[in-house]
Amino acid sequence: MAGTIVIKNGYVYDPLNEVNGEQQDIFIKDGVVVSELSAADMKDAKIIDATGKTVMPGGVDSHTHIAGAKVNTGRMMRPEDSYKTTRTKTAITHSGSGETVPSVYMEGYEYSKLGYTTAFEAAVPPMEARHTHEEMRSIPMLDMGGYLVLGNNWFMMRYLKEGDMDKAAAYVAWMMKTHKTYGIKCVNPGGVENWGWGENVSSLDEQNIHFEISSREIIDGLTEVNEMLGMPMSMHLHANNLGHPGNYKTTKDSLGISSKTKAKQNMSVNWAETKIDASRDQSVYLTHMMFNAFAGTSWRDFESGVKPLADYINNADHVVIDSGCVPFGEATCMTGDGPSIHDLSVLTGGKWSNTDVELECGSGVCPFTYLKSNPVHSTQWAMGLECLLLIDDPWKTIMTTDSPNGGPFTKYPLVMSWLMSEKFREQTFSECHKWANDRSTLGGVDREMSLYDLAILTRANTAKTIGMAHRKGSFGIGADGDVTIYDIDPTKIDTREYSDLINKFSTAEYTIKGGEVVCHDGEITMIPDKRTYYTDASVPDANEKEMLKDVQEWFRYYSHGFNHYPTPEKYLVNPTAIKANMEQ
Ligand SMILES: [Zn+2]
Repeated sequence: MAGTIVIKNGYVYDPLNEVNGEQQDIFIKDGVVVSELSAADMKDAKIIDATGKTVMPGGVDSHTHIAGAKVNTGRMMRPEDSYKTTRTKTAITHSGSGETVPSVYMEGYEYSKLGYTTAFEAAVPPMEARHTHEEMRSIPMLDMGGYLVLGNNWFMMRYLKEGDMDKAAAYVAWMMKTHKTYGIKCVNPGGVENWGWGENVSSLDEQNIHFEISSREIIDGLTEVNEMLGMPMSMHLHANNLGHPGNYKTTKDSLGISSKTKAKQNMSVNWAETKIDASRDQSVYLTHMMFNAFAGTSWRDFESGVKPLADYINNADHVVIDSGCVPFGEATCMTGDGPSIHDLSVLTGGKWSNTDVELECGSGVCPFTYLKSNPVHSTQWAMGLECLLLIDDPWKTIMTTDSPNGGPFTKYPLVMSWLMSEKFREQTFSECHKWANDRSTLGGVDREMSLYDLAILTRANTAKTIGMAHRKGSFGIGADGDVTIYDIDPTKIDTREYSDLINKFSTAEYTIKGGEVVCHDGEITMIPDKRTYYTDASVPDANEKEMLKDVQEWFRYYSHGFNHYPTPEKYLVNPTAIKANMEQ
């Protein structure tokens, strides 16, 4: 029977159900987790013996860059990326290539090889939504969604400046539906708009050009609108001053802005049964913390500022972060933060691409190589791991490389192994520039994460943070039947033998999606169905009407017509709207 499977006797890690390595059977029927199978179902079910293996829910990536205009620009800027890493065509798969910015097919296959079944594109410019959806629909193996970039949007800044929260909320709700996107992304608020004039903003209270609104007001307003609408995920913040020494202070102050707004996630969905409340607690989700945690005043006295930020987050309950780890080697930096990529390209003298998206946002792309011999890069490696190891509560953290900014997602196994093995960290310190040890606190950290912690950082908490834990990130009854089986016997782990961990995490023995084995020992065995999620937030009709009058009037500033603006549902594979309910 399609989508019906039993995974027997594995060591199960399901943090949302507080299952910590107990030997259990997982039953999936018609693609969904169930408590048991009838004798008749058992006869037809596929059975996998997972004795002596690690079983986790399918991986969920809550922040990655794999689809859209800037990703494609990255591909064009890096022909050298494609001849070194390739995948051969099979009877059911396309060929593919690319290391830091793989082709769309390769992205899906490589995520599946790692045990991932879900990935969210972290930055969708509204005007580029069609392109982003075209790529998302071509990426096999993964359920997906995308976050809409709104921190420098003209309408947003205008409404927030006017203090018209009803229109601001109506605009966000309409934009999510129009572009079939999932959550609010806020990138260098105010600064990217200033970049259109060759400027940036460097402090939270500086008013930007023309709109005369400060970053603080934008962060505050977007947080409030997000919670007014009951959105699945909180406002997703890429703070100001990214990549500049000393920026950790700006980051800390930025996080403080959202502390007064209570999380009010309110979705009409069926929730999988979980022991722990799977709804989100946070009102701000800070991305790639490492890039926003620089201390010092210049590259000469540069050092990690993770410790003071982690201290703040340890005492704050409204924040979740993802790390943005640096696993060394090739990367392609790409972000909606145009000015930060300009600064990077000046620093490296490398290739640089910049785009200004009319009325909405911008972006930049710059190929980059992180070297162990480089003092700053080595410190960044240590900082990424500090982000995850210095914050005590794993439910406040998510493991990412901000792929491909810190490095491609295919290097997640290295990050997982550094988190689990102090010995591996010591080994890497010995190969690095000494700044890694001298300018961070990582050397003094003896914490080693468990498989349970990793299941939180890569499954349970990623799903919870973005409002997908109603069906992803757990084995709760009613959850999607997505499973990763690693050939790791938790009773025999020796964290000093870290190369074994790296190998095992690099190729899941089985990746199961919707109850079907889709990847076995790195070989794609089936191309499963996939879904694209977006948020359908409701606001009073009158508010939407009033707001649309403004939008249509201001559309004269766009170079194309209003009717061409929306992304029709036909651009999406299995479009799945998540209804968010506004507080009345
Ligand atoms: Zn990112």
